Amino acid sequence: MGKGTVVMKFGGTSVADAERLKRAAARIVRKREEGYDVVAVLSARGKETDRLIADAFEVSETPDPREMDMLLSTGERISCALCAMAIHDLGQEAVSLTGSQAGIVTDTSHTKARILDVRADRIFEALGQGEIVLVAGFQGVSTDRDVTTLGRGGSDTTAVALAAALGADVCEIYTDVPGVFSADPRIVPDARKLDSVSFEEMLEMSASGAGVLQLRSVEYARNHGVRIHCRSSFDESTGTIVVSEQETMENPLITAVTHSTGESRVTLQGVPDTPGAAGRIATVLAEANVNVDMIIQNEPVTEGQRADMSFTVPRDDLRTAREALEPLCDELGIAAIVSDEAMGKVSVIGAGMKTHPGVAAKVFTVLGEEGINIEMIATSPIKISCVVAADRVPDAVRALHSAFELSGEDTIRVEEPFGGSAA
Ligand code: ASP
Ligand code: MG
Repeated sequence: MGKGTVVMKFGGTSVADAERLKRAAARIVRKREEGYDVVAVLSARGKETDRLIADAFEVSETPDPREMDMLLSTGERISCALCAMAIHDLGQEAVSLTGSQAGIVTDTSHTKARILDVRADRIFEALGQGEIVLVAGFQGVSTDRDVTTLGRGGSDTTAVALAAALGADVCEIYTDVPGVFSADPRIVPDARKLDSVSFEEMLEMSASGAGVLQLRSVEYARNHGVRIHCRSSFDESTGTIVVSEQETMENPLITAVTHSTGESRVTLQGVPDTPGAAGRIATVLAEANVNVDMIIQNEPVTEGQRADMSFTVPRDDLRTAREALEPLCDELGIAAIVSDEAMGKVSVIGAGMKTHPGVAAKVFTVLGEEGINIEMIATSPIKISCVVAADRVPDAVRALHSAFELSGEDTIRVEEPFGGSAA
């Protein structure tokens, strides 16, 4: 024994019914029998979290956040208790723990809490006794001793945080796809599974619509140097390894095209061109907990005139954003608030673009040739995002994926600076 520790996280589809849950249990047991100390983090089964949220809104229009967390945290506990039973039947010792029992300590922001500390002594104890430890994902206990949840997709973050605290060799994320792809395979059937991707690229991908890993989990993994292996729960194939940039085996100019179709644009017309106006607007939105993505402000041609300011928000936050901004019309003398509901975003991501000019020109030209109008643009050193009409997003993704030849062997690569690649 004593091969090291592995954290295995199973997503909702991987534990959705009895048969799948037993398959996950068998996989966990196999890892244990190979000689590893095993901690498994489970998500709620199938669409359980969605159902629980719907239940809450059936009894209350504005469910109390503390009680919401009490409710939502049950989904993951069910998965863990059932899995422990299945593991017992396979002849191994297993113990299920809530996030609180597992020592996941968070701040007090209900429904989107951040992990502050992992006090893993109970897990170490159980592992020391040869037990498999099952931890309910997506939850913790706050510094006020209340149950909290970590935001949608939060089980990924539980797994990564535990891997960091336990010094695990790897954090395996088992999911219903074989890994991270160069684009959503539902839109681009010949999208390529990536063997490896850097933390920086994965962060940009998670932030711009790739649903495989929760953004925070990638952030946490990067900050703590946790190796993530994102792979299929349905077969044995190797998936995608998320590692530091120096370790990536591939060196493509562009790694992936990501997208989202759930954006809305808000435009404030006639914002006074005075210092502090943008600060007020951003503050009001932050206080309403609206996550603003792209922001554009065009300076008026003549000094002292009024400006227009546009930004994108998740469509689900549009109403909240408008309500929060309404009072500013009087306060700042804004002429009007206009919104476009059905916007989407397409992003091209690749560490290689840092050193290679011309990527933006190509992105814009390709979209232009498709007759797709670019409404807003934002860039980072390794990402170019364009806001387009939501119904043109699939065309935009396909056109860019094909223009950058991401589908197979012929991927455009950046020349190896040191000669020869490690692959
Ligand atoms: N069950 C939670 C959700 O659906 C957390 C997770 O699965 O990661 O968001
Ligand atoms: Mg997930």
